Amino acid sequence: MAIREIRKDGDEILRKKSREVEVVDDRIRELLEDMLETMHEANGVGISAVQVGILKRLVVIDLYDGNKPLKLINPVIVKQKGEQEVEEGCLSFPNQFAKVIRPREVTVKALNEEGKPITVKGKDLLAQALAHEIDHLDGKLFVDIMEPGTLEYIEPNSTSEK
Ligand code: ZN
Repeated sequence: MAIREIRKDGDEILRKKSREVEVVDDRIRELLEDMLETMHEANGVGISAVQVGILKRLVVIDLYDGNKPLKLINPVIVKQKGEQEVEEGCLSFPNQFAKVIRPREVTVKALNEEGKPITVKGKDLLAQALAHEIDHLDGKLFVDIMEPGTLEYIEPNSTSEK
């Protein structure tokens, strides 16, 4: 296991489309574990492989709510419902937040770490995190869909830190 470097705003890899994973093997499992560790270290709730410089369709999410972290391979949103306006950040945009509209509920199909098909249903924060991370796999960033004029810089030691 290892902490990987998080690619930041301006790094053009963040604009690239990630490729489907064809074989779920130990290398993929190790990468997912590294992503989880990197995300935890940065206090994030979600990260995609492209954010650690690897163009594979992999997403990890941990809402710190007592549930096991989600490790998703080739995730696709197959259904979405409703809307929510949320204040959103991204590990690739340190200390920046903006208002975006995300679906209220999503259904995602993916493979798990064993390469088995799974379906994940998410509401509220989980729906937001899934939509945000899956966007990364197509080179889409939250600043692309933010409501104009809502981008804010919040210093990490400020009391309003999220
Ligand atoms: Zn992000």
